[in-house]
Amino acid sequence: MAGVNIKQLYKSFGITQVLTGIDLDIRDGEFVSFLGPSGCGKTTLLRSIAGLEDVSGGSVWLGERNITQLAPAKRDIAMVFQNYALYPHMNVYKNLSFGLSLNGVPKVEIEERVQTAARILQISDLLKRRPKQLSGGQRQRVAIGRAIVRDPKLFLLDEPLSNLDAGLRVSMRVELANLHRRLGATMIYVTHDQVEAMTLSSRVVVLSKGVVAQFGTPLELFYAPQNLFVAGFIGSPKMNMMKVNAHAINEMSIALTSENMSGSIPFQLSAPVQQVPDQLHTVGIRPENVELVEEAEAHMSGNVELVERLGTESQVHVRLDTGQGLTVVTRGTHPVNMDDRVHLKFPAEHCHLFNPEGEAYPR
Ligand code: ATP
Repeated sequence: MAGVNIKQLYKSFGITQVLTGIDLDIRDGEFVSFLGPSGCGKTTLLRSIAGLEDVSGGSVWLGERNITQLAPAKRDIAMVFQNYALYPHMNVYKNLSFGLSLNGVPKVEIEERVQTAARILQISDLLKRRPKQLSGGQRQRVAIGRAIVRDPKLFLLDEPLSNLDAGLRVSMRVELANLHRRLGATMIYVTHDQVEAMTLSSRVVVLSKGVVAQFGTPLELFYAPQNLFVAGFIGSPKMNMMKVNAHAINEMSIALTSENMSGSIPFQLSAPVQQVPDQLHTVGIRPENVELVEEAEAHMSGNVELVERLGTESQVHVRLDTGQGLTVVTRGTHPVNMDDRVHLKFPAEHCHLFNPEGEAYPR
């Protein structure tokens, strides 16, 4: 097994630059997801690691080996695609063993590897079936089995669950987590599903327009987003954002004000900041951290436009007096109703502050 090191990776298709200076250090045995909006370059990055794309610059290392120029088959990497790509005319056993036979692996060893993979994936009783006699989830397990029998140094998975229905996705997610624990192999997983990325991964790479916006643990991304992009992308419902003025009180604290705000928010920094630019900043606060309070304690007020009651929580959509929309999540079934007047408080300890360039201040 081995970690993956990506150094200053660039990839263009013609004049379209898709990946720009990607640096990543993925540790041996880690489960890492590539997460980001459609077209940000997730699949291209994965295919570049697999050797299915020629890179325009930079290098890819698997353990101590520079594999940038190696043919895909020589990389010791197995890839699982979203559309399974099973051979329809072969039964499951053949689908699992075919690649090994081609590579001249002895029959006894093939038998052992196929039976082991089938046992791990609980498909031992399906080995004689053809792909069309299998359910979507079973087919996906066979596709993963084909990767397992190769005993690769690295698994690459490109949205492997996206063709499954919602219930099956959840159970396959649990199976994937178990599989990773059992094999202890390095796995890289491409998805645009935040929940999948956050629950499966030790760390997540958030990509935006071909650059790494942040590489961190799920909780780091949620509680300490480094920039506006990650803050707005991670979390559902999305973080509320408001424009504010920022005045340094001292090098460890900043007062946030705005024309329509009563009082100010005393934002505390975790590291000293020398300069606070005299331009509009953005303050972010997650819907579950906004408090509904009495008018005297409130920073802003507004009217309720819609209440969505989900049982364990209610999502309250408020139109502030400034005209801006904002979401508040309350626990349980809060007694607030459409058209009610509400008063909101933004506790300083839950606020995120971004400078005019969209970079987070340390908190
Ligand atoms: P999605 O979530 O929609 O699958 P993605 O993040 O995986 O998106 P990529 O498939 O890596 O994105 O594509 C990144 C960009 O590169 C897109 O703008 C896409 O149009 C472009 N692209 C990908 N493959 C090619 C190609 N073979 N030729 C030209 N442009 C390409």
